[in-house]
Amino acid sequence: MAKIGLDYGHGNNTFPPDKGVSKNGKNYPEYDFNAKLGRKVKSLLKSHGHTIVEGQPLNGRDVPLITRTNLYNRENVDLVWSIHANAGTPGVNGRCSFYWHTSSKSKDLAFKYAEEVKKAGYSTHGNGTHASKRGSWTNLHICRETTAPAVLTENGFMTGSKDFDLVFGAKQDQYIDDMAQVHVKAIQRWLGESFNGKEKPSKPAPSNPKPSKPQTSTSASGRVESKVNGLRFYNKPSWSDKDVVGRVDKGIGFPTIVKKVKVGKGNQYQVKNSKGSTFYITAADKYVKVVGGSAPKASKPAPKKSTSNSGKAGKLKIVGVSNAAIVMSKPDRNNSSNLGTVNKGSTLPLNGSVRGKNSSSGYWEVKYKGKLGYITGKYGKQV
Ligand SMILES: [Zn+2]
Repeated sequence: MAKIGLDYGHGNNTFPPDKGVSKNGKNYPEYDFNAKLGRKVKSLLKSHGHTIVEGQPLNGRDVPLITRTNLYNRENVDLVWSIHANAGTPGVNGRCSFYWHTSSKSKDLAFKYAEEVKKAGYSTHGNGTHASKRGSWTNLHICRETTAPAVLTENGFMTGSKDFDLVFGAKQDQYIDDMAQVHVKAIQRWLGESFNGKEKPSKPAPSNPKPSKPQTSTSASGRVESKVNGLRFYNKPSWSDKDVVGRVDKGIGFPTIVKKVKVGKGNQYQVKNSKGSTFYITAADKYVKVVGGSAPKASKPAPKKSTSNSGKAGKLKIVGVSNAAIVMSKPDRNNSSNLGTVNKGSTLPLNGSVRGKNSSSGYWEVKYKGKLGYITGKYGKQV
């Protein structure tokens, strides 16, 4: 458990004119996105037992940077984590993190952020990290003036032709949930603590997955799910360490199988994640299984009466997320605290559905760790 300086980029008086974008006559302030993501990161960190120090109140007026860093230094925090969105030209997209160039601990933290971004299936800007130095555009106050290791994250380009949809558009809800987990996973790994009490970096993955009997068919459909923890996946058809881009744990997988391809002596599935990015994973049934004939469709809550003994309305299966869904304390994704996360494909006792606030697909009411919890409607399916 740690004391964390959580720094939301900019206050609510910074746009217009400065920090944000305008599109088709509508204003999209950066602080609004930073605060939405920051709120999720904050409650997810708190659910892992950390103490949070905030130099900038969520959605409050802008606090000068020197006031913020003085607070973090006075409070003797273990790390400072700053949340922003980037701006550039429409062709530039991707996520990245800044660290002060002489601090190896900050650098390690920044690299862990970039790794988790890639694992979640999102792109990085360059390799996802930038050294922050005096005398250049990277000379960032937050990185320079903090005593503790510090990272400033740029969570996509507000101006980017691809990123806009994630940061402000139709994909914002899922993006914020995914990125909140990216942030907390990076911080937990850096602290040497587990994520949700289970994702401790432990078992080495099978280093040379040997696919078993190849099937005759070269086309496949449905989703592929890992049977083991830490199963490697690749950015091209390869078994080589250098092409590994991430790992999936048991029960986690990819929603779309494109086809099966022969790689060396074995086979891999060419798969897509929910963002449409393409990866390769072993097709050996010792390591993976194919579930269903098509990707799970997001469904609206419409619970039926059920005789199941799990919850009043049976069970809820987590679908339509990249990795895991966030369980909230009340049916309002912008104003609730997070109770934890539930991995895709797993099930929970379901009580029913409620309309709630700030979700066009409503919310599922579930039992979670002996409490009532709420999951965004499109991330669950009654089973
Ligand atoms: Zn910013």
